[in-house]
Amino acid sequence: MNLEKMLSQKEITRSDLTYLMKLKSQSKLDKLYRAAYKVKAEHVGPKVYYRGLIEFSNQCQKNCFYCGIRKDNQQVQRFTISEKEILAAARWAHENNYGSLVLQSGELQNEEFIDFVEKIIKKIKKLSQNELGITLSLGEQKKETYQRWFAAGAHRYLLRIESSKQELYQQLHPEEHSFKRRLQCLKNLKELGYQVGSGVMIGLPGQSIEDLVEDLLFFKQFSIDMVGMGPYVLHPHTPLARSIDKEDSLKQRNLKWSLKMIALLRLLMPDINIAATTALQALDPVGREKALQAGANVIMPIITPQKYRLDYQLYEDKPCVDEKASDCKDCLEARINSVGDEIAYGEWGDSPHYFKRIQHKRTGGTTNAKDTPSQ
Ligand code: SAH
Ligand code: SF4
Repeated sequence: MNLEKMLSQKEITRSDLTYLMKLKSQSKLDKLYRAAYKVKAEHVGPKVYYRGLIEFSNQCQKNCFYCGIRKDNQQVQRFTISEKEILAAARWAHENNYGSLVLQSGELQNEEFIDFVEKIIKKIKKLSQNELGITLSLGEQKKETYQRWFAAGAHRYLLRIESSKQELYQQLHPEEHSFKRRLQCLKNLKELGYQVGSGVMIGLPGQSIEDLVEDLLFFKQFSIDMVGMGPYVLHPHTPLARSIDKEDSLKQRNLKWSLKMIALLRLLMPDINIAATTALQALDPVGREKALQAGANVIMPIITPQKYRLDYQLYEDKPCVDEKASDCKDCLEARINSVGDEIAYGEWGDSPHYFKRIQHKRTGGTTNAKDTPSQ
């Protein structure tokens, strides 16, 4: 089958995905990216939604082998940003017409943390007269905790599966981090009514193209609403980085694989939200813009107060650690305009897929649901 035909098919098969992941010629890759951009423009619009990212704490009880803020990394200064500073960042986002926020941190499950987050969500909703949408990225929690935060006003949750291959997941985590529990968390979030986001790291040691294709099919099968996936980037003070050779060429490979994954996911799931993640920018100064051209439609500008950014490095060469939120805003605007996308200021930018999914559930799958814009 020729490439044009493959790219315009209704159903894209596992073997097509594998073939496309292996494409090498730049002219063929350009065709793939153009096809994905076209699908994005048709289904979610030639737009970019902003989520101002507040990384409010690097305290973490987990020990993921790849992550720079894992519990056992003694070389990190631990912090939790005060409520006052978090609210100031949220206010800045609101005043600058960002439609949504992402609250992210290491994983903690104690009562104090749960209360703190609940209170912050309520206060952000109040200060923005309910105008700011809130996405959480706070790891695995009990269903009751997810429920409390949902009731407080959060409506989207990001929890990456990291790799949908259980064996690889286990290799990347200590034994007590359970793949099954993670999957159960994703199911719980869905049941509670959140818009659910997941994702994987791309280019992990021991990960093959076939594994990545299975990740794409996992998102489809789970009927995920949003995906944030990006290259695996070494962090020197982690067991995973210490176990492998540092090779610059791998960075280029991981970047290419990430762009292909984004384009293929857009073809596979036309109406979901796909983020152009910051890790792309760690490998290529214009990595995120390339992702937008390959089908991504969400960007999470970091609005964490500057003094904390250095201590929230999940991986090496994280960009923007010495900038202020306002610097990031101006710089991003110019970059996005260069791609030809419009920034959808002031909109939540919910995933149309979510509305179809819940409508489908309500009607028992008997009707074709229409998109319901939330704001
Ligand atoms: N503690 C929460 C949120 C913060 S971590 C959680 O784990 O869900 C957010 C994401 O950062 C993780 O899901 C992981 O995919 C990504 N990450 C961590 N270390 C990374 C690395 N070295 N390279 C690329 N991404 C990494
Ligand atoms: Fe903690 Fe998340 Fe990093 Fe794992 S990936 S160590 S849970 S911050």
